[in-house]
Amino acid sequence: MTERDNLLQSAAAHVRDYLNDVGDRPVKATASSEQLRADLAAPLTDEGEDPSRVVDLLADTGRTGTVATQGPRFFGFVVGGSLPVATAADWLVSGWDQNSAIHVLSPVTAVMEETAGDWIRDIGGLSGTWSAGFTTGDTMANFTALAAARHHLLKAEGWDVEADGLFGAPPIEVLVSDESHYSITTSLRMLGLGGNRVRRIANDGQGRMRADALAAGLEQVDGPCIVCAQAGNVNTGGFDPLDAIADATEARGAWLHVDAAFGYWAAAVPSMAHRVAGMDRADSVATDAHKWLNVPYDCGVVLCAHPEAHRNAMTLGASYILASRAERDSHNYVPEESRRARSVPVYAVLRTLGRRGLGELVARCCRHARRFAEGLAAAGYEILNDIDLNVVMVSFGDADTTRRVIEGIQADGTCWCGGTEWQGRTAMRICVSSWATTEEDVERSLEAMCRIAAENA
Ligand SMILES: *Cc1c(COP(=O)(O)O)cnc(C)c1O
Repeated sequence: MTERDNLLQSAAAHVRDYLNDVGDRPVKATASSEQLRADLAAPLTDEGEDPSRVVDLLADTGRTGTVATQGPRFFGFVVGGSLPVATAADWLVSGWDQNSAIHVLSPVTAVMEETAGDWIRDIGGLSGTWSAGFTTGDTMANFTALAAARHHLLKAEGWDVEADGLFGAPPIEVLVSDESHYSITTSLRMLGLGGNRVRRIANDGQGRMRADALAAGLEQVDGPCIVCAQAGNVNTGGFDPLDAIADATEARGAWLHVDAAFGYWAAAVPSMAHRVAGMDRADSVATDAHKWLNVPYDCGVVLCAHPEAHRNAMTLGASYILASRAERDSHNYVPEESRRARSVPVYAVLRTLGRRGLGELVARCCRHARRFAEGLAAAGYEILNDIDLNVVMVSFGDADTTRRVIEGIQADGTCWCGGTEWQGRTAMRICVSSWATTEEDVERSLEAMCRIAAENA
């Protein structure tokens, strides 16, 4: 065996052991950061070290220093696990080490990316004419979509924003839900549109933008205009009423962007698809694959109804890249140039699950969320949101009590949930977004939550 064979076999064995254990170990990291620094933060040596020892060190520290987000009982933030086929596909991506910037550099990953983009459009009910790009996550997908919006709106005003910037440009009005995700603000900041220049539209108490308030807001603004709606609120799972919102934006000629980081995948469940009705009327949509599609970090997807604007906003156009005009060069649809073939695990997951398998994964997570809400309500705790999707917010009493219970649950290690602030209340959030979670995991986690809440009452 060559050294390479040994290293790859050792890494595969380490990963296999890790994944075989990940459902039994505490969900929290058990090594302290001090311990991890003691193990890892050594001075850089002059002579270097044996690669197999380095791989063993990584694996050993990973066993205790990772949070078991790959396990079945991690319910913090919106963090999906990775399906085994997605992890396997990702290993191929690393083995091939393709630069997926342009078609000529990697024809096979270029074709996988095109096809994965087609499948994703199809799941969301978007027309095949929409362009797609694979980003590092939903933040960069939002950024890319809003860059396309900026291009499109200013071009219509006779302004070339890529050439001339925003100084002296016609102002763009931006309307966002007062419950929009902070990554929308970050994207607007990076685009020179300003995080605080936005008009905030009231929500309905469940995190869904009010279409009547949006229509009233649109009447107050002139000139080019972007509206940012959302499908899947991180606290409530609520969907903005996209059809009614599209009525308002179409009447006004505004660009409608939908942040559908995890809500997008509800489209794969026949009984839930109505929640995203109207998404096909948007101008751009952003979603994540590393959340609910359960591919490894990192991967987001930007989709745009105006391929020209999308490409013009992102194109690199360097003279030394003699792009083949006949083929799609993926770097024209994302901020990066050199990039990992992150569409490959997406391709593998969609090909494996099919539409029905994906719908079952999504529906199962939603069922688990409803069971959490039922179990906690039955134990006397207050559920703060309508359970529309895969997110539950629960209060265990006053803010201090709820915070103590969250800390207790995290320290206990049976499962992991984080906290949030919702309309002036402190709550614990449970978000189920992994293929690996079973009914038994939900019952075991509920038992731990109720036990720890009773101890802290
Ligand atoms: C997670 C999330 C984002 C940010 O996505 P990243 O993949 O973390 O960049 C944006 N919007 C919503 C609604 C999200 O849930």
